[in-house]
Amino acid sequence: MDASAQTTIDLEREYVFQNYARYPIVITRGKGCHLYDVEGRKYLDFVSGIGVNAMGHAHPRLVKLIREQSATLIHNSNLYYNQYQGPLAKRLAEISGLQRSFFTNSGTEAMEGALKIARAWGNAISPEKFEIIALENSFHGRTLGALSITGQAKYRADFEPLLPGVRFVPANDIAALEAAFSDRTAAIVLEMIQGEGGIFPMTHEFAAKARELADRHQALLIADEIQCGVGRPGVYFAYQRTVPVIMPDVVAVAKPLAAGIPMGAIIANEKAAAAIKPGMHGTTFGGGALACRVALEVLDIIAELLPAIQRVGGYFHVELNELARKHSFVKEVRGFGLMLGVDLAFPGKQLVLDAMAEGLLINCTHETVLRFLPPYIVTEKDVDQAIKIIGKLFSKVK
Ligand SMILES: *Cc1c(COP(=O)(O)O)cnc(C)c1O
Repeated sequence: MDASAQTTIDLEREYVFQNYARYPIVITRGKGCHLYDVEGRKYLDFVSGIGVNAMGHAHPRLVKLIREQSATLIHNSNLYYNQYQGPLAKRLAEISGLQRSFFTNSGTEAMEGALKIARAWGNAISPEKFEIIALENSFHGRTLGALSITGQAKYRADFEPLLPGVRFVPANDIAALEAAFSDRTAAIVLEMIQGEGGIFPMTHEFAAKARELADRHQALLIADEIQCGVGRPGVYFAYQRTVPVIMPDVVAVAKPLAAGIPMGAIIANEKAAAAIKPGMHGTTFGGGALACRVALEVLDIIAELLPAIQRVGGYFHVELNELARKHSFVKEVRGFGLMLGVDLAFPGKQLVLDAMAEGLLINCTHETVLRFLPPYIVTEKDVDQAIKIIGKLFSKVK
């Protein structure tokens, strides 16, 4: 390894919390769908910062706009107005079918806010109404509240006890969902396509039942669209994928929203948003001028890219199915648009390393699921290159 890469790694070993198991490459720059490391190696980026760099790297429209806005106004706090928060909230209302937004700096903060909405909503009806229904294998973030509704022991174990009143049900199990609901339920939280849980979509029947039960018990339906929303499934939000659309009361978004500038949002209908009254919630950074202006531009670009996301995502899906047909260790190909997963009969860790050595960045989630979250600007040609590498690695599997 080159000396400068080694210095970077050594400094982190000594001074940074040792919570991440990083791959031993130091990324220095990106352009379009490619990243480059300090030693000059080029990688095709099918991770895109875990779904964040949706516009790829150094997108000319974003570079221009960030230059301009950073020379004008980056942040001015929520004590005053800026010119971009209102327009961005209006745009999110138009594309989501909901009404109001609150801006955060991350996904987990959006989920925390959504949980506070659920608590305030329930409390206003009865002090007993504080239960949250969440799904097994879900992932909602790392803060204590979001962790409390994350249905995976590996994330939770060291931090128990967490929030009381959370009931977990298996995804797509309608009977379990019915059994968990009562008048004590304040909210049900779902990812319409589970991300960390292995690219696992909810069935229309299950989501529709969640909507019906939430209505029957005066509970809120909260959709965590932090990974599966904002264009990635080929529609703006994963809940819009099926007809008729299953409207949540509250939606959390983040990852691709400002394409790498930290930003998330809670989008809510009027009744859920009204649970948060003046003074009940806030943030210092959220909704700054730069982040909001970038998000507006990102949404403009996504509007242009949606057909390409569907087309290239569809092509990628077909090509992955073709690999699955040839290799019996592929159990299933799942997902929509540019959120795809290949479920293997063995852990995927080694394949991720082998792909990296071949110049392709992919990731593995839920032990056995190769996860593909390429930038929305990806082309059929990029997909061909990725498929060629994956195909080569698959044919070497013994
Ligand atoms: C990434 C993610 C989160 C957490 O977002 P952070 O920005 O990392 O806090 C929450 N929910 C889902 C579905 C996610 O994929």
